[in-house]
Amino acid sequence: MTLAVKKWFAKLLGDNSPDSSIAALPNRSGTNPKDDLETVRLERDELKILNHLAQKRIRYLEAVLHSIPEAAIVTDSSDRVILANDKAKEVFQFSLVEGSHKQLNECIHDEKFLDLLKQVQQFPSHKVAEHSRSVANEQRWYNVILSSITNVHKNGSVGVLAILHDVTREKEAARMKTDFVSSVSHELRTPLTSIKAYLEMLIDGEVQDQQTQQKFYGIIQNEATRLSKLVDNILNISRIEAGVVKVSKQNVPLAAIVKEVFEVLRPQADASGISLVDELTPVFFHVRADREMMRQVLFNLISNALKYTPQGGTVTVRLLVDEGIGQVTAEVTDTGVGVSKEDLPHLFEKFYRVSGSKNMAKGSGLGLALVKEIVETVHNGRVSVASTPNEGSTFSFTLPLVS
Ligand code: ADP
Repeated sequence: MTLAVKKWFAKLLGDNSPDSSIAALPNRSGTNPKDDLETVRLERDELKILNHLAQKRIRYLEAVLHSIPEAAIVTDSSDRVILANDKAKEVFQFSLVEGSHKQLNECIHDEKFLDLLKQVQQFPSHKVAEHSRSVANEQRWYNVILSSITNVHKNGSVGVLAILHDVTREKEAARMKTDFVSSVSHELRTPLTSIKAYLEMLIDGEVQDQQTQQKFYGIIQNEATRLSKLVDNILNISRIEAGVVKVSKQNVPLAAIVKEVFEVLRPQADASGISLVDELTPVFFHVRADREMMRQVLFNLISNALKYTPQGGTVTVRLLVDEGIGQVTAEVTDTGVGVSKEDLPHLFEKFYRVSGSKNMAKGSGLGLALVKEIVETVHNGRVSVASTPNEGSTFSFTLPLVS
């Protein structure tokens, strides 16, 4: 390869040192002009071939960059974006025609990210940084991996390669884990504090009369039961989420389970003056399900309906079979306090409780989360809710029917 070609090639790779300029062609003085012309022709042909090869390499590089699932950007030593894949254009909202170059600050309006690029450009290194920006109105988090591109002589940076690895989901999962731990601790603390306080009063002999003592024992027992239910619910949800729950599916008649749950809850309904009504299908309609889990689902929905319905109201459980599409829907309808449309989308979230209904009944906000996990994760069904404040609510779930 001739010297001029070597220098031209160095320039193509981004080496901007003055001695690599194509202008610095070898001195041909003192040679035959015919030979000179021939040499120039040969060099021109050689350059054409090399140019063609270089274009091919650039296209190949572009293809490599586009095949990376992360956002990737390559800059040169003059702070221009020379390559960027679609993901990067989406993250920073810019367009770049293939093969064309644009100044960095024309494409990227993100001071913090530009600063990261500048640091690596100025002090050639490898850097990993966390970066957050809003993409399509959504806050996203990235692990940005920046590497300076050094030239063949390794005496400086000719550009920077930046890869943005989207870690939004991991961030969200970590946040949810922290929220979950703090909610669990908060929920456990309430009954524990109460148990501790009543026990202390009893141990210190502050309560002498037997009637008050019995009352305190009752409170301690209730709080301990609440605590144990809470721990059971947390464990059940966690096991389902972790996929380690033991599921024993069989053909189950939902109508029979509704009757069983009604029997358990009837004393509570009677005590609150609430009528329990069933509109069931014949028992020969079965769903393929874990019987104990279905019992839990119906128990949670019906006991909620009783908790959030004032005296004199009605709770109706309806089973609707659609043999055409092969599914059964269970509806639990009450004439209770209802839920506002702001709260409605959050009801199935862990630990979510409607602030207004906290005075009506004790609870942990885990019952509906467990219903959703059992129906959707374990049984591939669907849960839904419709409600009108001060009129009532209908919680329903749909499962495939056993043919
Ligand atoms: P909790 O133990 O608090 O009842 P759930 O997860 O079962 O927990 O329910 C979450 C929240 O949804 C409740 O705190 C209540 O505000 C609301 N809710 C559930 N069922 C009903 C209902 N039938 N009517 C009105 N609000 C309800």
